[in-house]
Amino acid sequence: MENSETTKPLNFIEEIVEQDLRNNKNGGRIHTRFPPEPNGCLHIGHAKAICLSFGIAKKYNGKCNLRFDDTNPVTEDVEYVDSIKEDIHWLGFDWEGREFYASDYFEKLYEWAIKLIRKGKAYVDETSAEEISVSRGKPTQPGKESPFRNRSVEENLELFTGMKDGKFPDGSKVLRAKIDMSSPNMHMRDPVLYRIKHALHHRTGNKWCIYPMYDWAHGQSDYIEGITHSLCTLEFEIHRPLYDWCLEQVADGDYKPRQIEFARLNLNYTVMSKRRLLQLVHEGYVEDWNDPRMPTISGLRRRGYTPESLRNFVDIVGIAKRENVIDIALLEHVVRDDLNKIAPRVMVVLNPVKVIIKNYPEGQTEWMKAENNPEDECAGTRELPFTRELYIESDDFIEDPPKKFFRLSPGNEVRLKNAYIIKCTGIVKDADTGVVKEIHCTCDPETKSGTGNARKVKATIHWVSAEQVLDAEVRLYDRLFTKPDPDDTEVGGDWKSNLNPDSLKVVNAKVEVSLSKAVPGEHYQFQRIGYFCVDQDSQPDRLVFNRTVTLRDEWAKISSKK
Ligand code: ATP
Ligand code: MG
Repeated sequence: MENSETTKPLNFIEEIVEQDLRNNKNGGRIHTRFPPEPNGCLHIGHAKAICLSFGIAKKYNGKCNLRFDDTNPVTEDVEYVDSIKEDIHWLGFDWEGREFYASDYFEKLYEWAIKLIRKGKAYVDETSAEEISVSRGKPTQPGKESPFRNRSVEENLELFTGMKDGKFPDGSKVLRAKIDMSSPNMHMRDPVLYRIKHALHHRTGNKWCIYPMYDWAHGQSDYIEGITHSLCTLEFEIHRPLYDWCLEQVADGDYKPRQIEFARLNLNYTVMSKRRLLQLVHEGYVEDWNDPRMPTISGLRRRGYTPESLRNFVDIVGIAKRENVIDIALLEHVVRDDLNKIAPRVMVVLNPVKVIIKNYPEGQTEWMKAENNPEDECAGTRELPFTRELYIESDDFIEDPPKKFFRLSPGNEVRLKNAYIIKCTGIVKDADTGVVKEIHCTCDPETKSGTGNARKVKATIHWVSAEQVLDAEVRLYDRLFTKPDPDDTEVGGDWKSNLNPDSLKVVNAKVEVSLSKAVPGEHYQFQRIGYFCVDQDSQPDRLVFNRTVTLRDEWAKISSKK
């Protein structure tokens, strides 16, 4: 089956949705939800889930709710709620006011639990967590029934009410569903539905001291909200029979939400579990959740990724039923592709060395015309000051060059982008260190760019005026880990031993004066170097840029070999 707008085939979830629409299932309603747990900031894996659930709703004229899965009061925080909302909006999606919380349903879930007890389908167990785990048995051998399994309904009601009323300490009792201790699916062996936790909840305060487990809360929340397609990652596949069982107990009409699982997004050279990301933040390996090296949405945004590039990435990766690991080079390729179209070109010298044009008058400034973006006809031009003293990249000069080096060297000529051809006539070195301090040149006044002079040289390099120039802090970010799989460690080392010690280098660069008005969030291509964005720390008198990505496209190399 084909997608009507493009020739792209439908993914398996779209197939299911279209079939349901043809059968007029749920009266033709399509309603999805995105259910983050507010225990950390969203990462690029969540971006995939967001694009999928919100995307399906958009494509089929349906709705998508935002539901915070806040059933664990200990790890959750309002600070994360706000950041999650900001990230979804930034990605270009909106829940149209349908912002819900699993905790909104605690009362209803409690009522349903009572109903379950009354039907003889749940019981209060007093064995310890370890005992419960042991008595579950192994997938290949049946579990053992708890001695409390056959309590009377009355006794169960009294104990469960007592649990709710705070009569028992944490961990002393749980409510379990009474299903099947010999089911081949371990999740069906009398799963725990409620546990006691005397903890302050970020929304319900201390109203509750029992909290529902994921399996009891999730499907029921879907049901309350009228969700038709509940899309989640593959690790929940094994929970599906329990999801259906729980709904079976409470649903009273034809309508039931359907859980569909897809493969989570995995990326190499990074980690994605919130537990690990939290560790990187708390142990100071990165500045915060939005550190530009983090795979979080806020980190990628600060790094200079655009919402379009993340949506394109998710689209290219696609929706599948089997797990795989995506090469981070693809993500870098996609952002490069987007920035190539939109980022104005500027000249910035990261490692400056001074050039003095000996035959150019002191105090003279010529304004050289430069194209803002050759990929964008509407981008226009700007003027760059050309003066006797300039800066070029120190590695664009070699005193004793190897054979194929065509940039600047003694006696050799290069073109300065948008300006003149210059020739190196001499150098001045630091007496102590031997480092080249000044490169002396002459320029050929007949070769001014844009004047029709056709003389060609083998290389063109970028430059900035040393007299009319700005200083900037440039943060050169690189991959967070040195190995594709951070868990690929030496004996005794953990995943953190694979952190890239060079994931951030800071340099003081010289940037063209047109950047004096650059504001945080703007994207630029530093010609011949890479794509950069203005950091939130940037000030008019102290510009700060983050490297989004270099110009070298490894993905092109990888995919041409395939
Ligand atoms: P993590 O395992 O990374 O700590 P999580 O699954 O605990 O994340 P939730 O807040 O529960 O995080 O996730 C919200 C939704 O996002 C869920 O539906 C989950 O399936 C989906 N999701 C989480 N990680 C990924 C991923 N890597 N790829 C695609 N979807 C994901
Ligand atoms: Mg989760």
